[in-house]
Amino acid sequence: MSLLRLTFLGTSAAQPTLHRGLSGLAVKADADLLLFDCGEGSQRQMVRFGTGFTVDAAFFTHFHADHYLGIIGFLRTLGMMGRTSPMHLYGPAPARRLLHQAVHLGLESTAFPVEIHELKDGDVVRRGGYAVHAVGVDHRIHALGYVLAEDDRPGKFHLEKARALGVPEGPAFGKLQKGEPVTLEDGRVVKPEDVLGEARSGRRLVISGDTRPCPALVHASKDADLLVHESTFSDVSSRHDTDPGKLLTQAREAYKGPVEVAFDGLTVELPLRD
Ligand SMILES: [Zn+2]
Repeated sequence: MSLLRLTFLGTSAAQPTLHRGLSGLAVKADADLLLFDCGEGSQRQMVRFGTGFTVDAAFFTHFHADHYLGIIGFLRTLGMMGRTSPMHLYGPAPARRLLHQAVHLGLESTAFPVEIHELKDGDVVRRGGYAVHAVGVDHRIHALGYVLAEDDRPGKFHLEKARALGVPEGPAFGKLQKGEPVTLEDGRVVKPEDVLGEARSGRRLVISGDTRPCPALVHASKDADLLVHESTFSDVSSRHDTDPGKLLTQAREAYKGPVEVAFDGLTVELPLRD
C-alpha cells in the first residue's frame, strides 16, 4: 500500500451545523475507498470534496442515527448509477438488524449485493495490504473504534550485498525482495535476511467513534500515525462550529504531540514510515 489518505466528510455530532455535516470519514487506501460512519448528508459531502463514490466497504462505529442514516440514500444513489459489485457493511451489534432495515427501507431488493457483517471487540477484517481491527470502546450503546493497520513492508534491498554474494541479477533479485530464499548455481543458499534491511513497520490509523475516555483505545493508539478522536465530551462542543480554539486548547492540555481540529473537507495524507 502506498496511498493512505483521509477526507473528513462530516465533523459535527448529533445535528449538523452551518459548517459541519454529520459524522463521516472517507479513507483511500490505495485502490480501496472506505467509509467510517456515514451520517445523513455524507453523499453530498463526497461530491463536494471529490472522494468519488466507488466505496468498497463502510465501517460503522455504532448505531446512533447521526452516524449511519446517510447509508440509506447513498446505497440508492449507487443503485441508480448502475453499481453491480458488492458493498460490505461492518458494525457492532445490532448491525445485522439495523443495517438490514436501512438497506431495505422501502425496497424489495437492492440493485447490487450488500453484505452485512456484525463485528465485536478483537475482530479483524483482512483486506489487501492492510487489516481493519475492531476495538470495543465505551459509549452508551455497543460501539467500536477501528484501527486500520497497514501490513509491514519488507526491508530495503541491498543491491551491493546481493552482488557480493554472487546472486545473478534478474528473477533471483525479485524472489529475495519478496522474502524468498534463492539457491545459486554452486548450491549455496542466499536468504532474504542476507540482503534485506529490517522490515519497515506499516502505518496505523485509529478512529475512535463516540467514546468516553477509554483504556482500550489508548492502548490501540500507541504508536499510531494518526488518531481521529471525537470531542463531544468537551464542555465547548456545541460552540466549536466556527471557533475551534477552545477545543484545541483543551486537546493540547491532554496531549503534547501535534493536534489539529478537523473540519469538513480536511484532507490528510499519511506518509510511509521509512
Ligand atoms: Zn453516539
